[in-house]
Amino acid sequence: MILKVVKYGNPVLRKKGARIESVTAEIKKLIADMFETMYAYKGVGLAAQQVGHAVQLTVIDVRGVTDRPSSLEIKGEPVDVAEFMPLVLINPELTLVGEKAAGPEGCLSFPEVFAEITRPQLVDVKASNEKGKPIEFRADGLLSRAIQHEWDHLHGILFIDRMDKKTKEELRPDLDVLQVETKAELAAEKK
Ligand code: ZN
Repeated sequence: MILKVVKYGNPVLRKKGARIESVTAEIKKLIADMFETMYAYKGVGLAAQQVGHAVQLTVIDVRGVTDRPSSLEIKGEPVDVAEFMPLVLINPELTLVGEKAAGPEGCLSFPEVFAEITRPQLVDVKASNEKGKPIEFRADGLLSRAIQHEWDHLHGILFIDRMDKKTKEELRPDLDVLQVETKAELAAEKK
């Protein structure tokens, strides 16, 4: 089922996700729906907050992007990224590694807003997968960026919080409009 993606201005985007203690039937259904939603909107990643659930769950698939490379290592050995996709991360813990690099980002909760965001290039990830099994790996490139962006969502942090001041000022009018529209929509739904 394709779910509605919540937009900037919806308070759930600012909620820290609760830990998931076990992969219940409900969580499995949420994972399947999140993938369907992410593919329908042509996203690279989607966090549970973006479909209205404040839990520590994100889905990622970078295979659709061919012009921005990703790489992956498990225990220091390179692994084929495509074979590791699609990726489910439950309760992810990140260790940020390496130099910072700027790169373009968008977000399904901010339609038509794009900006350069500076983040550490590499990330070491510890998480559980869709079977509740522990996984550990190091990601680079687009995959690393996507994981960091989604981890932020799971903690109520948005990519606008990571923008430099000038970029955010330039985007401010668009962000204000989006926020007002979302709040009006929420108020109308409550009636
Ligand atoms: Zn996002």
